[in-house]
Amino acid sequence: MSADKRVENVIIIGSGPAGYTAALYTARADLQPLVIEGFAWGGLLQQTTDVENYPGFPDGVMGPEMMQKFRDQAVRFTGEDRFITDEVTKVELSQDGGAHRVWVGDDEYRARAIILAMGAEPKKLGVPGEAELAARGISYCATCDAAFFKERTTIVVGGGDTAMEDAIFLSKFSSKVTVVHRRNDFRASAIMVDRAREIENLEFMTPYEPVRFEGAPDGPFCGVVPRNTETGEETTLDIDGAFIAIGHQPNSHLVAGQVEMDDNGYVLTEGKSTRTGVQGVFAAGDLVDHIYRQAVTAAGTGCQAALDAEWYLRDRPPSPEDHWYAEDAYEHHSATVRSAAE
Ligand code: NAP
Repeated sequence: MSADKRVENVIIIGSGPAGYTAALYTARADLQPLVIEGFAWGGLLQQTTDVENYPGFPDGVMGPEMMQKFRDQAVRFTGEDRFITDEVTKVELSQDGGAHRVWVGDDEYRARAIILAMGAEPKKLGVPGEAELAARGISYCATCDAAFFKERTTIVVGGGDTAMEDAIFLSKFSSKVTVVHRRNDFRASAIMVDRAREIENLEFMTPYEPVRFEGAPDGPFCGVVPRNTETGEETTLDIDGAFIAIGHQPNSHLVAGQVEMDDNGYVLTEGKSTRTGVQGVFAAGDLVDHIYRQAVTAAGTGCQAALDAEWYLRDRPPSPEDHWYAEDAYEHHSATVRSAAE
């Protein structure tokens, strides 16, 4: 059976602070956004515990609770049926101003505008103990978690600018910070390395890489085993926390080759806007930003993307051709919509 389908005004792909803020703003602009939020909706904040640096929560808030609030606020204006809790499997962006096409499995959706907000993942070391101790001593965000390590001993793994910046920031809280890096040379800019070297409670351990983290399954975090990458010698460090700063991987594979990206796969936008250079396609959040990467900055760019999309659509009112025919698509759509409460 074929169904007469409306070309959506805007599809938002992704559901961190950028995606949900874009949903809120486009919904309040009466654009009835369709949000494809992924199974693990809420983005990276679903994996964090206390968030103390998001304005408006003077007592802090748990990451998952905050994302539930973001979602609830958007749903208030869109309705639950505009959220698809499933993964986008394919995207075909029109390069000539036509409708963009988005697939969730076999189901196709089309839209005049797309907001890309798929975020980025911190790279993992992939060593034993790392996954088990995530959020219980291992963190991927010093800005978020440094304050939980007051008077504690910590390590920062990595040798880039992020590692230096994290270590410098952590040294204000931790009694001792050790930068563990796999080479004797640093990828970080010399000025950052020099600044780090001047700090009394900051040490360097090179050329070492962690081969495992150790901690009792339910107990406190307690150790890391770094291996000398030249001699193979292993040692044990007693620490309270580890910050992994070995780079991020933007989740841009869905649009690879279709929008302009930098060498690391971050989507490039025009000037201070969220426009990607492809008509009607906007990008926001960590998918674009490899510098600030904060929930509050991602939410800010989600708002910008919604406004950019609104202005784009305002100049292109819907036409009678904004319909197309699809096989059984709405039936499956209804089946995949899940309630946030589940
Ligand atoms: P990055 O420059 O790619 O550095 C990643 C570091 O992690 C490298 O030292 C790398 O070692 C190490 N590494 C990667 N995989 C590893 C593994 N499996 N095990 C152990 N070590 C591993 O990433 P970044 O530091 O996040 O910086 C990203 C970009 O943002 C850069 O362009 C940076 O300049 C910029 N940034 C700028 C500032 C600033 O200007 N204030 C602050 C932060 C970031 P190798 O060197 O051996 O490959």
